[in-house]
Amino acid sequence: MRENIDIEMEETSCPICGGAEYNLLHREGRFQMVKCSSCQFIYLNPRPTGEAILRFYQEYLPEDESSIEAWKRMMEPIFQKAANIIDQYKNRGRLLDVGTGFGFFLAEMKRRGWEVAGVDVSEKAMAYARTVLELTVYEGPLERIGFPEKDFDAVSGFYVIEHLPQPIGFLQECYRILKPGGLLLLRYPHTTPIKNLLRFFGIENHLYDLPAHLADFSPKIIEQCLKRGGFKEWRHLIGGYTLPPDTGKKIASIIFGNLSEALFYLSGSKFLFPGVSKTILGFKG
Ligand SMILES: [Zn+2]
Repeated sequence: MRENIDIEMEETSCPICGGAEYNLLHREGRFQMVKCSSCQFIYLNPRPTGEAILRFYQEYLPEDESSIEAWKRMMEPIFQKAANIIDQYKNRGRLLDVGTGFGFFLAEMKRRGWEVAGVDVSEKAMAYARTVLELTVYEGPLERIGFPEKDFDAVSGFYVIEHLPQPIGFLQECYRILKPGGLLLLRYPHTTPIKNLLRFFGIENHLYDLPAHLADFSPKIIEQCLKRGGFKEWRHLIGGYTLPPDTGKKIASIIFGNLSEALFYLSGSKFLFPGVSKTILGFKG
């Protein structure tokens, strides 16, 4: 689903506030990121239709063993950190990981004594998680499954929300299926500050990962979204960093990851380094 592939697109109003007015922020081939004039949300418009998005995820993840292994190594530090955070806040219980992919995070939580289940839309990913890792994975999207109310102690989603056409609906569903006192953990990229910096230096890049990413959430916007989803309290963390296979990217990730963690702690958990991925916790009171 790149520029040269034909894909059905549709115009959309702002997925967060419903506003129709926007300013063009960034153009990449035939894709454009716009900024909502009312709530400042940055989103892809026009964007692929719902069905086109689901078809796309059949091919989104790599399928050969070495790529799966590389992906696992890249995500490992994030998963370990997230697992520690969840264990810190919640006693072992039922956990649902949305957009679980191959299921490595679920496997880790199962090892730690949690009762786990996943959701995904990719046949390849589901097949791997079910047969190789012997996990329970439901076919998504989440909102179509219809889990019972108050079913899970924790819900996680790593790099998922930026792929969703209806982020508020997704958060409302997460809230509904969480037990009282339940914990939501989301990991999301925040790309716009880096885009702006690279544009200043005239450096071409494809960091928005269009059209896979339908939006770019800022910490402020994602907190507003959690509130709209029903959550009463939330807390931001840096939450570690990935280890990409490419050496240059890996070094950058380690440098900015450690720098952002250090500044976050030095500022008394206030300063969220612009541009690096972040983790947000939502608490169902
Ligand atoms: Zn808006």
